[in-house]
Amino acid sequence: MNDKKNIFQKILSKKINANIIYQDKLVTAFDDIHPQSPIHILIIPNTFISTLNDINKNHELLLGRMILVSSKLAKKKCISNNGYRIIINCNTHGCQTIFYLHMHLLGGRQGTKNFF
Ligand code: 5GP
Repeated sequence: MNDKKNIFQKILSKKINANIIYQDKLVTAFDDIHPQSPIHILIIPNTFISTLNDINKNHELLLGRMILVSSKLAKKKCISNNGYRIIINCNTHGCQTIFYLHMHLLGGRQGTKNFF
């Protein structure tokens, strides 16, 4: 296991600290250490998947749960009415830096249309 994915494994096993704000049988959500917006939460599977390229039909429930949790947390953090963005980065061109599948939930200020 390389260091980059090990970070999220260590957050799950509580070996490194993170502000965990939601956890169920399938997913865990915690604040990003370098927030890009006032609300910046990462939602990860409880079991390791490297990238979006590695999902299959067996992950349908998990992926649905990740989106459902993002919507619930947006309401909990009071950003749902103004709006927010969810992002999954994949590999180099997608700017993925941690090779453990994760969804970004970003909000709390006006975003911009530009991505690439
Ligand atoms: P990526 O660029 O792979 O889509 O996103 C990785 C995210 O993980 C980045 O937003 C980065 O700030 C976050 N991150 C990296 N290391 C840590 C850490 O140790 N703790 C937390 N909470 N977030 C981290």
